[in-house]
Amino acid sequence: MTMFRIVPVILLQVFVSVSVLCHSAYAQAKKSNAGKGTAINTAAIRQMAYADSLRLVDTYKDLHQNPELGFMEVRTSGIIAKELQSLGFQVIIGIGKTGVVGILKNGDGPTVMYRADMDCNSVKEITGLPYASTKTMKKEDGTETPVMHACGHDAHVTWMLGVARIMLSMKDQWKGTLVFLGQPAEEPLTGARAMVADNMYDKGVPVPDYLFALHTWPIPTGTIENGPGVRFSGSDQLDVTFFGIGGHGSRPEVAKDPVVMACAAVMQYQTIISRGIAAQDAAVLTVGAIHAGVDNNVIPSSAVVKLNLRWFNEKTRNVLLDGIMRINEGIAVSNGLAADAYPKITMKGNVNPLVNDTALTAKVNAALKGVLSPAGIDTEKPSSMGSEDFQHLIKPGQKTVYNYIRVGTAHPDLYAKAIAEGKLAPYFNHNGNYQVDLSAIPLGTVIGATGLMALFKQ
Ligand SMILES: [Zn+2]
Ligand SMILES: [Zn+2]
Repeated sequence: MTMFRIVPVILLQVFVSVSVLCHSAYAQAKKSNAGKGTAINTAAIRQMAYADSLRLVDTYKDLHQNPELGFMEVRTSGIIAKELQSLGFQVIIGIGKTGVVGILKNGDGPTVMYRADMDCNSVKEITGLPYASTKTMKKEDGTETPVMHACGHDAHVTWMLGVARIMLSMKDQWKGTLVFLGQPAEEPLTGARAMVADNMYDKGVPVPDYLFALHTWPIPTGTIENGPGVRFSGSDQLDVTFFGIGGHGSRPEVAKDPVVMACAAVMQYQTIISRGIAAQDAAVLTVGAIHAGVDNNVIPSSAVVKLNLRWFNEKTRNVLLDGIMRINEGIAVSNGLAADAYPKITMKGNVNPLVNDTALTAKVNAALKGVLSPAGIDTEKPSSMGSEDFQHLIKPGQKTVYNYIRVGTAHPDLYAKAIAEGKLAPYFNHNGNYQVDLSAIPLGTVIGATGLMALFKQ
């Protein structure tokens, strides 16, 4: 599908070295913007991003065809490290396994960290695009799974590499320390903490005053959602293992069936929110997987239930966790299990709600009015039950504030068609048909660079 709508002419013109083009685009735009004081030179940003389009789209397609699961982003982080190194950034690799950081010190000013997550999903791509992923990967448990960038993290990395060149070319327009960060394993919500736990702030990574990130979203290209306050819920991932006594399928009376226990638990869990949490208070409890047994006629000795929780405050989180524990114990009691065979809870990942700083968000939005139509900047969207671990890049005890933008990456025609058909969007993150409109590649780069420039303005 051809998706370029905004800059076909510029794309046809890109036959010479991108760096030369970037430089001349900047020089030209700088001239045309002369005398405009300290305002962000969005004309220069725009020209450089679009002059870099072919390279960026190639990078995007390459990343899209080579997705890597969390903590396995060796190729992706290598691409980031190589590019930032070639631009003269101080690069640190291998933080939290595959995390990578590039640092550019440019005088006195704030320290701003720009984050791109790198991992993909265990999803089979069904877009039919010529650059669709056909890859499979071995998961940690040894199982082979199809993999795909179904959350747009390939676009995040591409944007960051585009933004890096622009920020370097415009070094005379900002002062401070710029940190680009390629984060592993956002999907399991553990990668940000892994980088902090690997002592990145003691290994030379400057502690940021401001954190900044963009995420693809299935709203039209040219629009963003960037409201202040709570944007994403907090989340927990946990496994509950029910222990029974295995046996022959014909003799349940001498066994204790963990499959029945797990099924009872799944149904009872659903009453925690409906009966235990006020209707005004939002929460989600999803069981995403139940693993038990192999054969038709064998009662297994254990069953694992995999849960995902979403909440906006600690009180609600505690109601969910307490409820799960009580239900587990109730099932153990009703099945006559000994205390040492009570179900076991394994906490696997946890993130707090994502809360955009009000002043910072307003500052970024004001700057983005120079590159997007005001109607394209939505600050009113209610918070979502999605979750992020980006905010856990903050060093514990630090008062770093942040802005996190959802950037429209759905082709406007596909979006309009979906709305006309009564759908909410043409596709959603984590689906095999998720797509990033290629014209959002240069535009996202413009949004990223403009937002960063705004954060460096005092
Ligand atoms: Zn995702
Ligand atoms: Zn994502």
